[in-house]
Amino acid sequence: MVQEPRSVSILGATGSIGVSTLDVLGHTEDGAFTVEALTGASNIALLARQARKHKARIAVTADESRYRDLKEALSGTDIEVAAGRNAVIEAASRPVDVTMAAIVGIAGLAPTLAAVRNGGVIALANKECLVCAGRLFLNECEAHGATLLPVDSEHNAIYQVLAGHDRQAVESVVLTASGGPFRTWRREKMATVTAKTAAAHPNWSMGLKISIDSASMFNKALEMIEAQHLFQLAPEQIEVIVHPQSIVHSMVRYRDGSVLAQLGPPDMRIPIAYALTWPERAPLPVERLDFAKLARLEFEAPDETRFPSIALARRALDEGKAAGAVLNGAKEAALDGFIAGRIGFLDMADRVEAAMDALAGEPEPVTLNTVEEIDRRAREIVKP
Ligand code: NAD
Ligand code: MG
Repeated sequence: MVQEPRSVSILGATGSIGVSTLDVLGHTEDGAFTVEALTGASNIALLARQARKHKARIAVTADESRYRDLKEALSGTDIEVAAGRNAVIEAASRPVDVTMAAIVGIAGLAPTLAAVRNGGVIALANKECLVCAGRLFLNECEAHGATLLPVDSEHNAIYQVLAGHDRQAVESVVLTASGGPFRTWRREKMATVTAKTAAAHPNWSMGLKISIDSASMFNKALEMIEAQHLFQLAPEQIEVIVHPQSIVHSMVRYRDGSVLAQLGPPDMRIPIAYALTWPERAPLPVERLDFAKLARLEFEAPDETRFPSIALARRALDEGKAAGAVLNGAKEAALDGFIAGRIGFLDMADRVEAAMDALAGEPEPVTLNTVEEIDRRAREIVKP
């Protein structure tokens, strides 16, 4: 078990990953972890409850107008309170042993970069950091001695099966994808779905946006680019296979023909706990796989006609430069438009493609400002 107490900050504490992270901390030995900062946005009541329960030093809402509400909700405690985008970045800058980066979208980039600059472990759930700013993010990790541990289940799986192996012996990685709720649907039917139907994921319980991204497979598209940066892979070394049961979380092919996989129930607390307690493994009371009951594990190739997001990711991998940031910014804007009911489900990929066409060849953004600038331009083109 962990000896010294480890200090943890959770950026995006009130979201799906944030709540699961606090759940994992609740299962660790008393005194194993202390909580420094918890940040959230609109759910003030939950943020205040979490801060009280886990004795956080500081609670921060990204919404400047909610300062008073949060202050009131934490009255009678000595928990510091702050509000606004800069306050989130400042809280993320406080030195801790582990930062859980679990804000959704590119909004997570600036705070996570602030955490990276302190060194320590960065438990990275926010894939957008690598998709939009891969080189910048990795350079900063290296410059500040931060240890980057992927929390995204596929990348966590790959990280686990790469451990102790020669990277030169890796032939490719195989990202598994559930296929989402529309895996077997006809394209015409997909055209008419609402955000509510798209958010109903068959296996995983996640935040609204990543759930819809799973239905369009844009989540897998982001993960392909995330994998490229994280594991320094060539585009052709990144495979995607649909695996509806979400039991095999990803695999690595080695050049001798061996394939190593990591398996487990679809429960994000497993990769979260891995990152929090790394390099050790702490006991975790999650469901155990019962192989006798697992009827079968199926695999099928993704259908890139119904899920053009996969082809767009391949294009971004090949183009490099700003393509990841453009794909993500356009996707975030299109997704907001879909959630608001302004565009249809299948329109999202068309909008992303249009932005990628318009901004093809833009140079790789290597500062926070230039990443945010290309993100803004991609959103502007999508304008749903
Ligand atoms: P979520 O929507 O449930 O939670 C997002 C969190 O970010 C909340 O705490 C919210 O208050 C905060 N937030 C939102 N907008 C913000 C802003 N502008 N500034 C500051 N904070 C803001 O999302 P989630 O499902 O927990 O996902 C978080 C991240 O983890 C995403 O990048 C997602 O892709 C990634 N991820 C999630 C899962 C999962 O199972 N949920 C799995 C793998 C990766
Ligand atoms: Mg994932």
